[in-house]
Amino acid sequence: MTEFENPYAEADPFVRAHFDCLDCGGKLWEYAIQGQMVCEDCLEVFPSADVFEAQV
Ligand SMILES: [Zn+2]
Repeated sequence: MTEFENPYAEADPFVRAHFDCLDCGGKLWEYAIQGQMVCEDCLEVFPSADVFEAQV
C-alpha cells in the first residue's frame, strides 16, 4: 500500500477565531484558505475583512 504525503495533513484549515458571529453571537471559525469565517452555530459565512471591521 502506498502512503501519500498530504501537504495539508498537518495544517488545520480551521482556526478558531476570537470573534463572535455578527448574526447570532456564536463562535466564528476562520477558514484560512479562503479568508472567510464560518459560525459554528448558524453556519453563516462572513469574509474575514468584514468581521475585523465590525469588531475593531
Ligand atoms: Zn452565527
